[in-house]
Amino acid sequence: MLPKEITEYLSSHRTEHLEQLFELLRFASISSQSAHEADSRACAEHIAGLLSGLGFSTELRPWRTRPILLARSTPDIAPPEAPTVLVYAHYDVQPPDPVELWTSPPFEPTVREGAVYARGASDDKGLLLAAINACEAYIRTIGKLPMNVLFFFEGEEEIGSPELEDFITSAADDLKSDFAIVLDLGFFAPGAPTILTGLRGLVYLELTLDGPSVDLHSGQHGGAVLNPLNALAKMIAGMHDEDGRVTLPGFYDDVVEPSRVELDQWKSLPFDEAEYAERVGVEPVGGERDRPLLQRRWSRPTLGCNGIIGGYSGQGAKTVLPASATAKISMRLVPNQRPDKVLAAFDEFVADHTPTGVKASVRVLSRSRPFYIRPDSPAITAVGDAMREAFGAETVLARAGGSVPISELIQRILKIDPIPTGFALPDDNIHSPNERFALEQFYGGAVASAAILKNLAQTKRNS
Ligand SMILES: [Zn+2]
Repeated sequence: MLPKEITEYLSSHRTEHLEQLFELLRFASISSQSAHEADSRACAEHIAGLLSGLGFSTELRPWRTRPILLARSTPDIAPPEAPTVLVYAHYDVQPPDPVELWTSPPFEPTVREGAVYARGASDDKGLLLAAINACEAYIRTIGKLPMNVLFFFEGEEEIGSPELEDFITSAADDLKSDFAIVLDLGFFAPGAPTILTGLRGLVYLELTLDGPSVDLHSGQHGGAVLNPLNALAKMIAGMHDEDGRVTLPGFYDDVVEPSRVELDQWKSLPFDEAEYAERVGVEPVGGERDRPLLQRRWSRPTLGCNGIIGGYSGQGAKTVLPASATAKISMRLVPNQRPDKVLAAFDEFVADHTPTGVKASVRVLSRSRPFYIRPDSPAITAVGDAMREAFGAETVLARAGGSVPISELIQRILKIDPIPTGFALPDDNIHSPNERFALEQFYGGAVASAAILKNLAQTKRNS
């Protein structure tokens, strides 16, 4: 159990902590827009100020366009001989567009119906601050943290953490830790604190078919010249068979089935297919026909077309035979698929299926590997117990279909199994208009973070 002064401090400082959250949310730290570089820097400096005020030694490492903030507990605020936990979060946010769909302005935080509404409230500033508030509670009451804390906050997560691998590799000595928490995720369902044992990787590419040297008149040349859009559509359609399986050669060769522990856990999760269908507004019939829905979302790889560019897409008719056609295609990868191997399979498919009359080229936009941790480590138990203590409900093990590249990078480069978790709720509208973070989750998140520090301090590092 947490010391009483910690929980009392956190409950008596809710107003101050909410005000801190408001301040953080007012920075439009949008990483995809260069016009907001100064806002991002100001946001990072603001967080550094909060942490140095608590006695952390802080450092803003210049990195690409948004600095990375490293803040380390000093001997004044943590026992030097205690283990270290690296806590990752990000201070950048998605663009708020379409702004007109927001009930209140995205960078003017507002409380309604028990939640803070603002861009970044749930992804990821509310989580980031909850962890800082937990440290504040220890430092302002007992005077010391139970263990050393190294905060690692980046500002380019929402654009895919480009080149973060280079940063972690070059800073590996500074990032050395005993444990790591990736604080950028959430509950599987309200009342179900969650640890993620797996995340899918991602390969994103553009496939272009070039045909005639210029756009042609489809009346004069249609029937003689192959239409690149038609050819592209046929190729994309050929990437799945009748049963929803991906047809790239060897695509499933390295796929590992989930462990028995996980499969049993998934069966008992509060998940209702009909409710899910209601939420997405359509019957969920994608993916491999013979697989249960959660497996299709979490432990099976996918291939999907995310957009097609070519020809005429303005108002009304224009009879054009396009010079080229491009498809944006992404693949979600699962353990133990490797991006380079999957890309080679994609190239092979393209080489075998490109018809005469067009020339194909593939441009890779991003790649990240899938991530997986064993579901039974002492660190998972420590974090799971802390979440239960804070939220009064059993912690569940789940996976997520999305990609959070940082987890895999920490595991591969720093050789620590990080624990992806967080306090967001599924209906927080992250990346959408009216993003929100429930106050209960924010306050509970600070208690949980405090309990995580206490529990991990007493946990043997699994190696
Ligand atoms: Zn995030």
